[in-house]
Amino acid sequence: MFYFILFLIFIFGAIIGSFLNCLIWRLHEKKTILGRSMCLRCRKQIAWHDNIPILSFIILQGKCRHCEKRISQQYPAVEIITGVLFVAAIISDLKLAIGDGELIIAQITNYKLLITIIRDWFIISIMIIIFIYDLRWYLILDAVTLPACAVVFIFNLLLGFNWQNLLISGIIGSSFFLLQFIISRGKWIGGGDIRLGLLMGFALGWPMILTALYVAYISGSIIGIYLLIFKKKKLSSKIPFGIFLTTATVITLFWGEQLVSFYWGLFI
Ligand SMILES: [Zn+2]
Repeated sequence: MFYFILFLIFIFGAIIGSFLNCLIWRLHEKKTILGRSMCLRCRKQIAWHDNIPILSFIILQGKCRHCEKRISQQYPAVEIITGVLFVAAIISDLKLAIGDGELIIAQITNYKLLITIIRDWFIISIMIIIFIYDLRWYLILDAVTLPACAVVFIFNLLLGFNWQNLLISGIIGSSFFLLQFIISRGKWIGGGDIRLGLLMGFALGWPMILTALYVAYISGSIIGIYLLIFKKKKLSSKIPFGIFLTTATVITLFWGEQLVSFYWGLFI
């Protein structure tokens, strides 16, 4: 029962992931959300049975049925990651021990927990969109971050955060990047990072925003140094910093408190 419920949630996450892939592409092509999916190369419409998350990619061996060109691995990757993170959110929010199947149904009817889960699924989805978009096109869209700011702010008010806390956290998140933007005259980071900082602040609240910024910078530096050493990037080349910020936000959302106590445990 327990694993069956988690499996259903994974499937649900994969379907949302498939929708996110579609949304990312439509945001880039500036199209409306409505309309059928099509192959990006031959522009033929994709039949519903060729559009099943993860499975279709495996059955078609990663190729379009019509033109046989390769389909980007981004599609199954986003579907799998969304599914896994949706399951992680449930486990983290319900503080589940492995195996207690009845507990899921008993707890999920608690409306506050239900709102927490929906909020976390929403944050995961937004962070995945920002991650992929920044990775591919070095841009963080205001059309994504600004509406998301409003939505997570309302979610967190419903969950009992006070608005002063969220506001302070949002100001810290955004001014952290604003400062770097001003110092570097827009060379280190783009304006989109400032709005993403605001979103992170509203999503995590004080003091978790600090943990997220810390995690982002540590992981960013490690990977940045790795890329420099192995000559995959030059010091002058652009690095899409949004990929670290979004990853750090999701990690902090689920494991923020454990990270903080682990970190202090190293010194005390
Ligand atoms: Zn095709």
